[in-house]
Amino acid sequence: MIGMNERQPNPDQSEKLYTATVTLTNKIGLHARPAIQLTKLAKRFSSQIQIKTASNSPWIDAKSIVQVMAAKAPRGTRLEIAVNGDDAREALQSLLDLIQNDFGEKPADTPELETESGHVASRGIAIGKAVMIQHRIHDQRPADSIETESGLLLDSIESVKTALSALIRNADKDIADVLEFQLALVQDKTLIDPALAAIRDGSSAPSAWVQTIDDQLRHYKESDNAYFQGRSSDLADLKQQVLNHLHDETESLPTLSEDTVIVADDLAPSDFAMLDRRYCKGIALKKGSINSHVALVARSRRIPMLVGLQTIAIKADSTTILDAIEGRLIGEPSLEVLAEFRRRMAIEERQIKAQQKYLTAVPTLPSGERIYVDINVGSLDDLKQVSAEHCDGIGLVRTEFLFTGAAKMPDEETQFQAYKKLVEWAGDKPVTVRTLDAGGDKPIAGLSEKNESNPFLGVRGIRLSMLNLDIFRNQLRALVRASTFGNLRIMLPMVTIPGELENARRLLAEILEQLRGSDPKLERPPLGIMVEVPAVALCIDDFDADFFSIGSNDLIQYITACDRGEPKIAHLYRGANRAVFELIRKTIDCGRSAGKPVSLCGDMAAQPDYIDALVDLGLRHFSVSPADLARVKATLCARNENAVNDA
Ligand code: PEP
Ligand code: MG
Repeated sequence: MIGMNERQPNPDQSEKLYTATVTLTNKIGLHARPAIQLTKLAKRFSSQIQIKTASNSPWIDAKSIVQVMAAKAPRGTRLEIAVNGDDAREALQSLLDLIQNDFGEKPADTPELETESGHVASRGIAIGKAVMIQHRIHDQRPADSIETESGLLLDSIESVKTALSALIRNADKDIADVLEFQLALVQDKTLIDPALAAIRDGSSAPSAWVQTIDDQLRHYKESDNAYFQGRSSDLADLKQQVLNHLHDETESLPTLSEDTVIVADDLAPSDFAMLDRRYCKGIALKKGSINSHVALVARSRRIPMLVGLQTIAIKADSTTILDAIEGRLIGEPSLEVLAEFRRRMAIEERQIKAQQKYLTAVPTLPSGERIYVDINVGSLDDLKQVSAEHCDGIGLVRTEFLFTGAAKMPDEETQFQAYKKLVEWAGDKPVTVRTLDAGGDKPIAGLSEKNESNPFLGVRGIRLSMLNLDIFRNQLRALVRASTFGNLRIMLPMVTIPGELENARRLLAEILEQLRGSDPKLERPPLGIMVEVPAVALCIDDFDADFFSIGSNDLIQYITACDRGEPKIAHLYRGANRAVFELIRKTIDCGRSAGKPVSLCGDMAAQPDYIDALVDLGLRHFSVSPADLARVKATLCARNENAVNDA
């Protein structure tokens, strides 16, 4: 069998023949998993691909798993590769990337690195100088005259106003919302007057400002209204901004002049907005949240970011690697480790570039059946990352963005304008808007329950909307009004029993009735549910929804009883669990027999390891973040090409 390939690649096509020699440096050489990876990759290309493990051994077909395994090439083998055909250059490069990346294994002789682990808030690798950002503490000094101290305070407030206005002009919408709230606060007499009164009572400007804001902060924190409680971090940030000016520390935020990894306890939106985008290559935070504004913006700008680092022992100004793929921060790496990560970065970049051409692709099965790929949207800014032509619609709008960044609860009109923008962007493609999914991992100040012993099992999603009917009604009214501008569908999160769907449908019918008073032609948008609670997936036939969308992030969490954000049990929180696959299959089968669309909008939809299996389970609608769109389409297309090659 092997002997049949014992020939040099065809010399007649030498203009398309590419060759290379590479040493196998991974732990186990070309056995088992690496052999499967190599043949799988080789099959994605139409070129003939042959490999040779020693000068006197035969050429073998890299697309044949039997031949590749039979070569038994151990670690250290010098592998010759010859590729011949139309896509030879690209094929050879991809194979070299795979082999030089040790098939994704950890290098065998790399000692365990001194690393600190955190949660990935924005994927990627960054290398740069560690720059620490600390919140500065104001020093105590005796007060000067009332006029001098009052003048100092008012001047500082004026400077902060000017700085905020400038930042708002250049900031992305979600950061601008927070900054606008701060601008409104800093001009508010309820803050300025007590501070001036404290100065008249003998305080210095910094002390007066700190007293005043701390008083306010106490009110915010003690308030029954959790919405105000949540705004306290914006107020604390404002306190610091004025103090910086009082101490003439406007420059104390570091000026970045080279590739930098920002290291901080937490990063305020105003600090983030002031950092030079050209040099801010990565962000590592001790606190922070993957749902913070800074995390959202980091994702949309592709700035790798880690949050929740237990300790940060990185030295200021030292070279640091932020590996927001495996979730670790590496301080003062050796030259070898640095070189290894630079290589991985280059591979990542090349792969991202190569995948871009798939943006325009239309994935199908060999039978011609379409596979649809929608995008998930977490802010209006996400729409800038991708053209509507390149996706099949919006499979999930996380409407929480309207509620978390703003200074007040968004009214019906504000929401209507946002939903209208989404449907207009999508043209006639479907836009699936999820009603507010507050609670659990998405606490929303002013709405989420306080002091729940287990917020993930508490009042969240539809449960919370049903307890806050005014807010729910506003959202449904805005959605129904926006539905006349395009193809809008409404989706309910965290549904557990059919009664919740029925109640929501009744409420929607009521609202429709009211709105038909002014627009008799209004039609009810399709009403679907997220499948993220096992009780729903197990008895999916009981739910008379117009469509289903599998929320694998929460579904895995509830099936495996693992907090989705807890790194210590990440090995248990896995989609590759038969129970998870069973419930996904059941949902897809139910949708198919009832003629109802089923999509999957959790992170599983974008994970290369699962995409094939999901298609095999019958999934035809994927919904992924805009940053993952090209990669997922590339994987789906490669599957089809493989199938054609295998045939
Ligand atoms: C999910 O749970 O899979 C999902 C898509 O929703 P979220 O991640 O917003 O909870
Ligand atoms: Mg969810």
